[in-house]
Amino acid sequence: MRALILSLLIVLAVPAPAQELSALARLDAAASSVTATGEGLALDLAISQPAPWRIRFLDAPPRLILDAREIDWTGSAGLEVPPAITALRAGSFRPGWSRLVVELAGPHRLTAAEMVTDPSGTAIRLALVPTDPASFAAEAARPDLPEWAAPDPAELPVLLPQGGGPITVVLDPGHGGIDPGAEREGQTEADLMLTFARELKEVLLRDGRFSVVMTREEDVFVPLETRTSIARSAEADLFLSLHADALAEGEAQGATVYTLAEDATDAASAALAERHDRDDLLAGVDLSDQDDVVAQVLMDMARTETRPRTDRLAQAMVAAIKGADIRMHRNPLQSGGFSVLKSPDIPSILLEVGFLSSERDFARLTDPAWRARMAEALRQALLAWADEDAALRGAAQP
Ligand SMILES: [Zn+2]
Repeated sequence: MRALILSLLIVLAVPAPAQELSALARLDAAASSVTATGEGLALDLAISQPAPWRIRFLDAPPRLILDAREIDWTGSAGLEVPPAITALRAGSFRPGWSRLVVELAGPHRLTAAEMVTDPSGTAIRLALVPTDPASFAAEAARPDLPEWAAPDPAELPVLLPQGGGPITVVLDPGHGGIDPGAEREGQTEADLMLTFARELKEVLLRDGRFSVVMTREEDVFVPLETRTSIARSAEADLFLSLHADALAEGEAQGATVYTLAEDATDAASAALAERHDRDDLLAGVDLSDQDDVVAQVLMDMARTETRPRTDRLAQAMVAAIKGADIRMHRNPLQSGGFSVLKSPDIPSILLEVGFLSSERDFARLTDPAWRARMAEALRQALLAWADEDAALRGAAQP
């Protein structure tokens, strides 16, 4: 950790070359404010347009680090700050990324962090309150991604698949609207998965290497077929359907990763896939001709190429979730005939984040801290997969 802090200090001590960035977005200092609130701090940073961003803390001295893709922070020099902030510094950090360092008089933690876009413009809004030194130290000591800890641009790995654009992830919160999915103690699978999908979307967007499309942003019914066509029109690199179903007690506990197969791994997986299709039918959607949308032979050809990519994605997810010490099902990798996974050319996964029928899973699913760990594990899984996928595809080309 000390080495990291030193290297950062060195980077920050070097005067940033007069913004090498071809900055796309710019801080509007006049429209921004940094104020002391009741017991904490509120930062309202107006920027000229939305940009990928991420936040972390570093200790000794306590600092909040705001990295953003191509935001020109030059205007931050004109910001008035309350005494709880001892310094503001800004400059380019790595190619295409700039960094705003908010030096704090004491340890703080975030209570809110969001990028808001409305007719009046775009702003990054942060709220901080004081915290104890031990909690802050633990947060600041969280290891960063290797490529962020080492600011030497020459050593940065190439992580982006398919032509270097962002990794386009379609997140599919299961159920919704008239189809609430599983229910327990007044909570529905549809609501829980929408909450988790929103949190995961934030985690992915803050990373900066993902673009995220959601199949639903609110509590509405979306037919399974529409979910897959959303993935196609988004030209998704991968599709991730999020569920927390109920199975007979004792049968299922822990996160489970499902891929598509004609023959389900077991009776429970078959029942789960059937029930999702039946829910769709009950909601007034006829799936019977879904496979006629594209000629079967073309789909089979595409699936032959997609299948190994999907399998690697599933394996990366199991590895990352286990690596985060998150409880998984005793058979964490399963398959079934889920209609929502039938895109022939897009690696598609259905993740049972947990099962509402399990009391322990229910406690985990309703715990924001647990969900944050799961979201972080999934971010790492998707990056690991994209990295490997890009390497394998690169190797396959002449
Ligand atoms: Zn479900």
